[in-house]
Amino acid sequence: MSEGSTLPITLRDLAEIDVGRLNRVGEKRRAALGAVGIETVLDLLTTYPRRWIDRTNEASIASLAIGEEALVIAEVRSVNSRTTRNRRTMVSIVVGDKTGKISLVFFNQPWRARQLSAGMEVALFGRVDEYAGGRQMTNPIVDLIGDRTGRIVPVYPQSEKARLTTWEIAGWVEEALRRCAERGIADPVPEEVLDRLDLIDRAEAIRSIHQPESMRAKDAARRRLAFDELLRVQSVLVARKRELERSARGVVHDLSGALVSRFHDALPFPLTGAQQRTLAEIDADLASGHPMHRLLQGDVGAGKTVVAVSALLVAVQGGHQGALMAPTEVLAEQHHQGIRRLLEGVTVTDGENLFGDRPLRIELLTNRVTGAERRDVLAGLADGSVDLVIGTHALIQDAVDFASLGLVVVDEQHRFGVEQRAALRDKGVDRVPDVLVMTATPIPRTAAMTVYGDLDVSVLDELPPGRTPIDTRWANGPLDEESVWIDVRERVAEGQQAYVVCPLVEESEKLEVASAEETFERLSNGELADCRLSLLHGRMSSVEKEETMASFRRGEVDVLVATTVIEVGVDVPNATVMVVLDADRFGIAQLHQLRGRVGRGQLESNCWLVTADQTGSNPRVEALVASTDGFELAEVDLELRGEGTLMSTSQKGRSDLRLASLRRDRELVELARSVAFDLVDVERGLDDHPMLADELDLLLSDEDESFLTKS
Ligand code: ADP
Ligand code: MG
Repeated sequence: MSEGSTLPITLRDLAEIDVGRLNRVGEKRRAALGAVGIETVLDLLTTYPRRWIDRTNEASIASLAIGEEALVIAEVRSVNSRTTRNRRTMVSIVVGDKTGKISLVFFNQPWRARQLSAGMEVALFGRVDEYAGGRQMTNPIVDLIGDRTGRIVPVYPQSEKARLTTWEIAGWVEEALRRCAERGIADPVPEEVLDRLDLIDRAEAIRSIHQPESMRAKDAARRRLAFDELLRVQSVLVARKRELERSARGVVHDLSGALVSRFHDALPFPLTGAQQRTLAEIDADLASGHPMHRLLQGDVGAGKTVVAVSALLVAVQGGHQGALMAPTEVLAEQHHQGIRRLLEGVTVTDGENLFGDRPLRIELLTNRVTGAERRDVLAGLADGSVDLVIGTHALIQDAVDFASLGLVVVDEQHRFGVEQRAALRDKGVDRVPDVLVMTATPIPRTAAMTVYGDLDVSVLDELPPGRTPIDTRWANGPLDEESVWIDVRERVAEGQQAYVVCPLVEESEKLEVASAEETFERLSNGELADCRLSLLHGRMSSVEKEETMASFRRGEVDVLVATTVIEVGVDVPNATVMVVLDADRFGIAQLHQLRGRVGRGQLESNCWLVTADQTGSNPRVEALVASTDGFELAEVDLELRGEGTLMSTSQKGRSDLRLASLRRDRELVELARSVAFDLVDVERGLDDHPMLADELDLLLSDEDESFLTKS
């Protein structure tokens, strides 16, 4: 494979060599390879074995015990095919090694008679049974290994249709590797990084994944090659982030003012360690000239509001304005009230005022703020006399102008699109405001790094002290359900309150409302006839919704029967029971979110997950019963759902992830992210690492890139 050059071979070089140039690849084999997507030597070398057979673990036929699962390598001695009385095909095969013989039977696999013939070497994996006095394997896994030698035999994906066998592929790979050996394979990752992360070099990894000396060598190879895949993905994300930082001028906030420390001193509690840590991370961003773009993750009740308000006050103390955007009017109003209370009596320095101080001005802006009131708020935002504004998407309408917007906090981002975040950022005058996105839907850290790849991530992973954990139980079937309503009645008798969340109806708000109304009727006339019930759903006007919530908050209603509209933000400390009907229709994250509506005060709270009588296990419900930790649940969720949900289900965007798994390789994702941060320079991007830059070009299509960067 020398093209005259003596430099080590790059992936680009390999991608430019047609597989047809290998020995024993004629027109026919070339077409067959093309049919499975192998056109270049790079395609061939990145066609990784799907399994490795460790011959050092292989059993001899004589030693096989009945009832045991075993791997044997043997030679096919005879093949017989017949149709049984009930018209099934049965292929019987006898295989043997130096020590003895064993028979194999395959039912309904007529093609086995074509696949296997006397003299072939096969690896078999299966359970050994006794049949008619002899030993037999029924429908074992069969790998054709040809005459491959070596202790570890790679098994490649084979194509029946293209008639490609694993030993042919292994043969071509061997030739390709041999012809690479002279020049060697270039490595884009600096040696210092490899040493630090204990990664083997690329040439060694490519050889070892195909021809490992041992299973451990194979694992080391896999780790290195998976790292490379993840490094490419993270480099795209980090490069994109750096580019944003480079091209946009941010506000340099002043951390030295007294406003924030006065606020902290006035709080009735000390900040948790996690709050202090995340605030330090946010402050560092705020003080820099690059616009902040940070995700703040924290479980329900972790105390995100205090963190957000502290950050907003940093903006205010430097003479800028802060905005907080919530997903619904109810939530915006609730935040407005809560933050007003939190900031009662806080004053800001005012040069134009003789006394030097004026009260901090906080306003609300939603579509319900109209007329003179609205004009007043808008004027105050435009002339800078409004310091903080809390609102809904009304904040991003054209008519809203800011004198100097310094920081935008977006709450519960799963309800907002990227465009909306971008629109808010555009409200800055000549500087891009800093953006802090808060979410109470924890996603595993490594997933966050990829899904929100161009955001920095801060995690509030510690709850304030003194919380009483929520006791969660699964009520399976009508008998169990009886005890749920007994619990609700008892709590109500003690002056506490409850939520009942009605079945989620996918895609139809109308049906969902109908089911909520039905449940409301049933409970009012039945199990909860003695309680004061109210109904809350998405089809009510916002005035009606607010009135219902307000009377629940005032304790005039005992039980709130609701749809998932109460999923986020609602905060009534006296509510101590959460009942979720048809809990199996909800996802883990949603159940956790719903459960977070209780346990907000000193009283002990219960959460009941009700399902129709189910046999067997229900992993999601069981996960909720077992854990109240949002991050732990997020990990379980990821396990259960698989990674398709992370990276889109289509192949696009993960065509380069052949070995790496976001699920299994969490440690590697983190390492790759930190290495990407080291390699992608703030000013020069990947200029110092041209080989890596070239690999991004080569291996990630434009579609991949745009998929990865649209967070
Ligand atoms: P989140 O928005 O993360 O769900 P909140 O900000 O609403 O949580 O905080 C939940 C409750 O915890 C609030 O009543 C808040 O006053 C209280 N809280 C916040 N931080 C602390 C702390 N460090 N110590 C004690 N209580 C706290
Ligand atoms: Mg909150």
